[in-house]
Amino acid sequence: MSPLPDRNRVRLEGIGLHSGHPVAAILSPGQDGTGITINGTPALLANVTSTNRATTIGGVALVEHLLSAAYGLGRYDLEVTVEGGELPALDGSALPWVEALEKLKIQKSKVKTIELQKPIKVEENGASIEAYPADGFSVDFMVEFEGLGLQKFVFNAQNMSYKAEIAPARTFGYLEEHEALKGQGLGLGASADNALVLTKQGYAGTPRFPDEPVRHKILDLVGDLALLGRPLKARIIADRSGHKLNAELTRRILAQWK
Ligand SMILES: [Zn+2]
Repeated sequence: MSPLPDRNRVRLEGIGLHSGHPVAAILSPGQDGTGITINGTPALLANVTSTNRATTIGGVALVEHLLSAAYGLGRYDLEVTVEGGELPALDGSALPWVEALEKLKIQKSKVKTIELQKPIKVEENGASIEAYPADGFSVDFMVEFEGLGLQKFVFNAQNMSYKAEIAPARTFGYLEEHEALKGQGLGLGASADNALVLTKQGYAGTPRFPDEPVRHKILDLVGDLALLGRPLKARIIADRSGHKLNAELTRRILAQWK
């Protein structure tokens, strides 16, 4: 990670999680009101072309951790230029993105906040996500993993730090599934350097938090909500939710607000 001289931008290089090839991203502040763009495409729900294992926008895969970092820091205008078709996996968390964004001089955005008028609930196959009108932003997440049992975490943006509590939580994956994915030519760049490895017996690597996976689920949810393109005041309650339900909630929030 090296700031380029004389320019308000930061370049990050790394390995693409899926391709295993070197890729790079250059971040610079967008102009007030332009929102976040990825290779020129606005990072909005309507422009998501795939959520199969990673959110894809403007032909660029794995944008969710950068979007989560930006949203977690309250950055709504950002220009992202990507070389190589996907964002670098870095350490599998949002922390390197947070640190890169903190190096940019960005003016406080004036975008309007979405305030919910009434509760929204989305559910499918025993999983659910609900949003309630609130004065601030909080997420209450519950999830169960084989080998780890039930994990629950509450993140409240009013009195907790996104950078300290959520951003460091890494992507996680089961060793058994990784072998199967590699057989399909996917996840070629995935390793213990950019993911917390699990087995059906529990953690295979050392977790950064005892409940690191549920914190990463919140990180991903924040990245999905970033596709609103503006701040949200809501209390979110998620039970085993993932990208698909998160996207449906985001769509319903936009529909209610417009
Ligand atoms: Zn993730």
